[in-house]
Amino acid sequence: MDLHTLGWSSFFAAQVAGDDNQDLTPARVIQQHRDRWVVQNADGTSSARISGRFRHQVDSNGTFPAVGDWVLVHGESGTDWVMIDRVLTRRSSFSRQAAGPSDRAIEQVVAANIDIVFLVAGLDGNFNLRRLERYLTVAWDSGATPQIVLNKTDLCDNVQGCIDQVEKVAPAVTIHAVSAASCDNIESIRAAIPSGRTAAFLGSSGVGKSSLINALLGEERQSVAEVSSEGSRGRHTTTSRELILLPEGGIVIDTPGMRELQIWADEASLGRTFEDIERVAQYCRFADCSHLHEPGCAVRAAIESGELEESRFDSYRKQLREIRFQRRRQDTTAARAEQEKWKKITKRWRNRHKELY
Ligand code: GDP
Ligand code: ZN
Repeated sequence: MDLHTLGWSSFFAAQVAGDDNQDLTPARVIQQHRDRWVVQNADGTSSARISGRFRHQVDSNGTFPAVGDWVLVHGESGTDWVMIDRVLTRRSSFSRQAAGPSDRAIEQVVAANIDIVFLVAGLDGNFNLRRLERYLTVAWDSGATPQIVLNKTDLCDNVQGCIDQVEKVAPAVTIHAVSAASCDNIESIRAAIPSGRTAAFLGSSGVGKSSLINALLGEERQSVAEVSSEGSRGRHTTTSRELILLPEGGIVIDTPGMRELQIWADEASLGRTFEDIERVAQYCRFADCSHLHEPGCAVRAAIESGELEESRFDSYRKQLREIRFQRRRQDTTAARAEQEKWKKITKRWRNRHKELY
């Protein structure tokens, strides 16, 4: 495969011009694991580790390769013995805050070298201009060019009205009004990702990011969605491909990291978004109530009485689960302190409202 099809450009070529080490070849990172990366170049995919010399550098500046990065590798392509020696300077990067050694917040790059980031909103009630503004900030911050996708036009009676509203908060940003379900106007997104260009989709859970990617892939979905790599113990593992080549050219990055990013950006506002649920939950008998089967659960009671919609509760639980997963991955001391704080707050609530149940 041609490197340009994978996103190689003069921006990266200029960084290796004059490099006389013939043993180093460029490759693009298509997957990131704990201490292993899957890279792809003209020879195919390889499982790679970072060389000792490079690790030394990484320890001082924290720049681990991320999905989308262009790296220089040596070793035999197509094997498990490829070594990453260098990460080329990024055109753009999406980061999130992670807890580093001794509780220090560090920047963690979750995806790199994205040219176009589609900020996706659903026209089915998820539509929220404030959230769109937040995503725009994240996007401009990254170095990628944002474009807005208003999905689920099939569920909206006043598409033009929505476009008008968005134009006011995002002047000069391209807007695509589409339906992933009926493939209506999907062509306008496809045309916005020329061959060799890399795109990503950002937006709340449920707006239709996966559906849009599937619509872009069409029939080819099954054949390109997965990549096999021989594990170090000779086991054949199949994991989902995080850098996807579209049939007509163009590249889409779809990583768990980008999905976490969206939650990360939303975390502070979860309580505000689901104010109704959190207000009710304060009256549950147990402070650590999962609102699934505990006796004296105020949330279940609200669902049964019709005061609270089950689907809304499901989406709350989904987001909360992702946030808790995030939290567990952060520094444990910070997490424990947070837990203690919430335990105290909820205990106070429980004591105050015990008499009600
Ligand atoms: P993601 O969480 O952003 O990846 O969202 P999904 O792609 O999983 O879509 C969430 C839900 O919305 C699914 O049930 C989809 O079938 C539905 N959906 C996605 N796009 C459309 C659309 O254009 N119209 C309609 N009616 N439903 C859609
Ligand atoms: Zn409960």
